[in-house]
Amino acid sequence: MLTLDQVHAYYGKSHVLEGVSLEVRPGELVTLLGRNGAGKTTTLKSIAGMVETKGTISFDGTAITGRPSHDIARRGVALVQEHRGIFGMLSVEENLKISVRKGSRWSLDDVYTMFPRLKERRRNGGKALSGGEQQMLAIARALVNAPRILLLDEPTEGLAPVIVDEIVRILGRIRESGVPVLLVEQNLAVCEKLADRHYVLEQGRIVYAGSNADFRADRSVRDRYLALD
Ligand code: ATP
Repeated sequence: MLTLDQVHAYYGKSHVLEGVSLEVRPGELVTLLGRNGAGKTTTLKSIAGMVETKGTISFDGTAITGRPSHDIARRGVALVQEHRGIFGMLSVEENLKISVRKGSRWSLDDVYTMFPRLKERRRNGGKALSGGEQQMLAIARALVNAPRILLLDEPTEGLAPVIVDEIVRILGRIRESGVPVLLVEQNLAVCEKLADRHYVLEQGRIVYAGSNADFRADRSVRDRYLALD
C-alpha cells in the first residue's frame, strides 16, 4: 500500500534520512518510534511531499516521490501535524465543512458521533479550542477528507491523560475502519495498545522492525533505542 525504498531526505545540505525503507500494508496501524531528532517527522513529511527526497516512495503502486504535496494529498495521503491546518477565525463546523470531500466513509455526523466534544463546540472558533480539542479537530478534518492512509505526528503530545485516552479510542476506531495508519508517537503504552507493527529510527536509519508481540517481548529494543540517555 505505502512503500518507502531507500529514501533519503535533505534540508538544504543537511542529510537527515539515510536510506529509510518501510511499508504499511492495507489495514495496518504501524508506528514509527525513535528519540528526538531521529527523523520521524521528516519521514512523514517526505511521504507527504514536503521535503526534498531521493529514493522511491510509492502509494498504491504509483511512485509519488518528488510530486507536489497537493497532488499527494489529493491521492488520499493525509498528514496530520500538531496544531496544523486549523483556521482560528473559522468555527469548528466551518473548519470541518471546508475539508469534506465526496467519497469519504466519514460524514460530518459520523465525526460528531466519534468526537462528542467537537459537536458541543461546533460553533466555537478554532482558536478558542484547547490543545486536545485542536488535535481532535485536526484528525476529524482528515477523516472527512476521504483519507486512504493517515500519517499522524505525535497526536497525544502534551495532552492530559483523559484526552490521551480519548485519542486512543479514536485511533482504535480508525484502525477498525481499515484505513491504514502510520503513527509517530512517543507514548509507548499508546503504541503497544494500537499497533500491528513497529519501526524504530535512529539518526535517519531504521534500526528495528518487528511485530507488536515481538516488540513487547523484547525489552532490549526500548533500552537500546528509546530510553532517554
Ligand atoms: P522530534 O520528536 O524531536 O520531532 P523527529 O524524530 O521527528 O524528532 P525530525 O523533526 O524529523 O526528528 O528531525 C530530524 C533532524 O532534522 C534533526 O536533526 C533536526 O534538527 C533536523 N531538522 C528538522 N527540520 C529541519 C528543518 N526545517 N531544517 C533543517 N533541519 C531540520
